[in-house]
Amino acid sequence: LARAVPQTSGLYPYVPGKPVETLLREKGLSRAVKLASNENPYGPSPKAIAAMQHAAAGVNRYPDGDANLLKDALASFHHVNRDQLLLGNGSNEVLDILIRTFAGAGDEVVFSSRGFIVYALAAQAAGATSVSVPEADGLTHDLEAMAHAVNEKTKVVCVANPNNPTGTLHGNDRLQDFLDSLPRDVVVIIDEAYYEFVADTQGDSVHDLSHPGLVISRTFSKAYGLAGCRVGYAIADAEITALANRYREPFNLNLLAQVAAVAALDDREWVMARVAENNQERQRLESALDGLGLLGGRCFGNFVLLRHAQCGELLRSFEDRGIIPRPLAPYGMADYLRISVGTADENNEFLQMLNVILAELQ
Ligand code: PMP
Repeated sequence: LARAVPQTSGLYPYVPGKPVETLLREKGLSRAVKLASNENPYGPSPKAIAAMQHAAAGVNRYPDGDANLLKDALASFHHVNRDQLLLGNGSNEVLDILIRTFAGAGDEVVFSSRGFIVYALAAQAAGATSVSVPEADGLTHDLEAMAHAVNEKTKVVCVANPNNPTGTLHGNDRLQDFLDSLPRDVVVIIDEAYYEFVADTQGDSVHDLSHPGLVISRTFSKAYGLAGCRVGYAIADAEITALANRYREPFNLNLLAQVAAVAALDDREWVMARVAENNQERQRLESALDGLGLLGGRCFGNFVLLRHAQCGELLRSFEDRGIIPRPLAPYGMADYLRISVGTADENNEFLQMLNVILAELQ
């Protein structure tokens, strides 16, 4: 098959959080709690569930390939024009489409070495060269160093804000300074998958930040609780979205996902309540980890960082007992575990189990 082996055969696969079913099978357990993929533990808005139930009988038809109702809803929600939107099967696909649209062989994509891992995978798949810039303090994007890494070959720059997996956040003033230091024609993706969790302090990046090549990417997977539906979107200048939309597959947003997202966007009360609960629980988890001397850093999303020299043992012990954290070894952070914020009961279970495991390790 020598002829069939693509130039990109060195691609490494994305390793998702371990699904509950996999752990149950591996360990012969009857119950497990997944705290590994930054999902919303409360489920989606009841209105989104009702909308999907109502629409389910229509799945013999193709979905609206332009997702008109969702575009109308998003355009009105963000006060932008419909032609400034790019919709994707999760924001992963949005990122992939954007990187494939703007970067190819001979081009460079700049990101932080502990930035969200999909930037590297998408750049590799596009045949572009990844430029991975070390963090300022091991966790925070070094925006000055990233700006220095931009040259005439740079086509796309990616900044996750808040970042996953490090949970760090740059304020809009810092981001605007960064944007001002870049060439005007570089596409800069500010990936705001966790925006809703910081919305009250961060301001409205869609309108507060400016750069001709600016792309703001958001998702329905986190605060909206629709990870399984796969809906993400980007807002950018219409020139950018017009190009990217040519690389988008027809019907990339399925029919149930479209109606669920419209209903979820409309249920503001539900989202705000979940965000408040998440932020309160995140603080509680961080205080508990801090008390144990294990806090890996302050996080601004729906997850916390645990730092411990024996993370391999910790991971195994959690999994043996039916809790699934996320190891961060693929990010070069072998002494960190990322724990998604669960419901209050799930977080209590996690903390109790942590105390038992730590006692055993001594
Ligand atoms: N960006 C960041 C920073 C993320 O953490 C994630 C999810 N882990 C995504 C994008 C992709 O999310 P989705 O494809 O579910 O929208």
